[in-house]
Amino acid sequence: MVASKPPPPPRMQVPLLDLKPQYRALQAQIQAAIGAVCASQHFILGPAVKELESGVAAYSQCRFGIGVSSGTDALLLALMALGIGAGDAVITSPFTFFATAGTIARAGARPLFCDIDPVTFNLSAAAVEAFVAQQCERRASELIHRGSGARVRAIMPVHLYGQITDMEPLTERARAFGLKIIEDAAQAIGAADARGRRAGSFGDVGCLSFFPTKNLGAFGDAGMCVTNDATLAERLAVLRVHGGKPKYYHALIGGNFRLDELQAAVLNVKLPHLDAWSAARARNAAFYDAAFQRAQLGDAVLTPHASLGVRHIYNQYVLRVRERDALSQYLTAAGVGTEIYYPVPLHLQQCFAYLGGKTGDCPQSERAAAETLALPIYPELSETQLQYVVDCVAAYYRG
Ligand SMILES: *Cc1c(COP(=O)(O)O)cnc(C)c1O
Repeated sequence: MVASKPPPPPRMQVPLLDLKPQYRALQAQIQAAIGAVCASQHFILGPAVKELESGVAAYSQCRFGIGVSSGTDALLLALMALGIGAGDAVITSPFTFFATAGTIARAGARPLFCDIDPVTFNLSAAAVEAFVAQQCERRASELIHRGSGARVRAIMPVHLYGQITDMEPLTERARAFGLKIIEDAAQAIGAADARGRRAGSFGDVGCLSFFPTKNLGAFGDAGMCVTNDATLAERLAVLRVHGGKPKYYHALIGGNFRLDELQAAVLNVKLPHLDAWSAARARNAAFYDAAFQRAQLGDAVLTPHASLGVRHIYNQYVLRVRERDALSQYLTAAGVGTEIYYPVPLHLQQCFAYLGGKTGDCPQSERAAAETLALPIYPELSETQLQYVVDCVAAYYRG
């Protein structure tokens, strides 16, 4: 922390996330739903999972939902179902949670990191076009990554913080290059473009997470693949149970990627409230936007950009700031929870050193990793708490 800026004693506690008020409001219904599963002793792929699959698929404007054990497993399962593995490569963003590229590598394929758009923090069609022009070439009907010789098979855009990637031009480029599309929609359930088309409905497969910090959170790990392709839906469902179909007969090697009946029961209670929660997050974001504007902090603080007409679900509200680390420490001392999503872009992670990434490869992602800070945005925050957060940020820069 900067010595000349001692933090004030905390006047208030504003945690980054507090799940208790949401639980208190639904406690009786959730406990009843859990009790019903206990009474039935039907724990694996029962009626609650089926109900959730059709509810979330419809919510995401998709025909099929395949409940899985986590968002990470949704991504891995999607890659397996599309037959992506050794000798293949997948273009993705380096500015995301580890699972995005971790699953590509676990499938046996090579993550190819394309730099992000600095305004939205997402991949853009222009950046992907430039990446392919510089690093790939067409051989026969295939797109080959020149540096590794790998066949580029798919693109995995990430709808970061709850804002959908500009999918229409990206989808068009992906199809022109012959690439499959797997959407990492872990932070973006219900996010939509200006025409109302929802996250997960553009690609071959959309991957959702119900990790407790997401807008729709389970009581543990859970996730889902959504798709409009009946053949792919069937493949995802079979690979979810070790590839056995019929049971104990394996034409494919899958895994145990099942969603728990108990988690599905909790999520079925919560799903009808998701729109209200995402709207409350958007309201909090609008409050922050206006309050930061009033605070007149100049270019020390840039509030998140929401593209015109999109439905941003604000899984995170992320500022781009000057002196990020010192501000973060100052806010912690003032009782305000913050987090850095994400401090190390994936092309610079130690485990991916074998890919040969180096500083300077993705300058926008590197800059974002050094300058971004997430503030509390959960639905139940009061305006007093939101204003306190803004006042603390303003106090830091005014010294
Ligand atoms: C949360 C998240 C995941 C992984 O989801 P889990 O349910 O935690 O496995 C993947 N990608 C992104 C962008 C995420 O935010």
